[in-house]
Amino acid sequence: MTTFVSRASWGARAPRNVSNNITPQNGGVTVHYVGSGNVARPDHSQCAAQVRGIQNGHMDGNGWADIAYTYLVCIHDYVFHGRGPNVRTAANGTNPGNQNWYGVCALIGDADTVPEGLVAGIKSAIADLRGVGSAANGINGHRDHLATSCPGSRLYALVQDGSLNPGGGGGPSPAPAWPGVYFRYPPVTTHSSVRTWQQQMLSRGWSIAVDGAYGPGSKEVCLAFQREKGLGVDGVVGPATWAAAWTAPLTRVEALTRQTLAASR
Ligand SMILES: [Zn+2]
Ligand SMILES: [Zn+2]
Repeated sequence: MTTFVSRASWGARAPRNVSNNITPQNGGVTVHYVGSGNVARPDHSQCAAQVRGIQNGHMDGNGWADIAYTYLVCIHDYVFHGRGPNVRTAANGTNPGNQNWYGVCALIGDADTVPEGLVAGIKSAIADLRGVGSAANGINGHRDHLATSCPGSRLYALVQDGSLNPGGGGGPSPAPAWPGVYFRYPPVTTHSSVRTWQQQMLSRGWSIAVDGAYGPGSKEVCLAFQREKGLGVDGVVGPATWAAAWTAPLTRVEALTRQTLAASR
C-alpha cells in the first residue's frame, strides 16, 4: 500500500515560484531515475534526506524554482510530493516535454534493481496524476524526449512493456475485437464502430470529430498515426491499425505529430 509523503513531511523548501502552465492531457507521465551507480537507500529513514538533497541540487546548483520532479518514488513504496499535480515540471528536458508530461523520478541508479515496492509506488503516482492531475494515459521515459540514459535500461524496459501502467495488469490494454469493417474514404464509411475508433483516437489526444463517419478528417488522422507507428500507410483502418489504436505506446513523436496536425487546421 503506497504512502504519499507531503512536502512538509520530507522537509521541503518553499518553491521560488509555481507555474500551472502544463497540459498533461496531451501527454502523460515521464519516468526518470536519479543517475548512475547504486543510489537507492536500503533504509527508508534515509529517503527523505535523499529527496532534500535532490531539491538542494536543483534549486542551488541548477538555479531552478523547485525540485524538478512532480513526484519522487523510493523502493519502499513511498511517493514524495515534488511539484505535484497541475504544476509544470522542469524534468523532461524540452519545452514540449515539460508542457505535456509530468515527471516521476525513481530513487534508484542504473546499478540498482527495480524492486516491487518501487513499481507499486510508481503505479500509484501515475494513477494519482491521471486522476487529480488530468494526465493522459501516456507513459514514457526521459530518453523519449532527448538523448539520455535516463531512466536506465531496467526501468525503461518496464516503461515499454506496460508494467508501470496502473490501469493495466502488466501489459498494454487489449483492443476490442476488430469489427470486420474496413474504414475507407472516399466514399465516407459510416458504421457504429467508426465512432468507437474515433473516440479512442480522441482519447489518445488526436484532433478528430467523433461522429461515426469516416471522412477526410478521420483519414488524415489515420495516415499520420500509421506513419508514426510504422504501420502500412494506406489511410484505411483495418485489423492492425484498429488494434494499434489501443495497444501502441503513446510516444513523444505521436504527441508532436498530433499537435502539428491540430495546429495546421
Ligand atoms: Zn531523467
Ligand atoms: Zn524509502
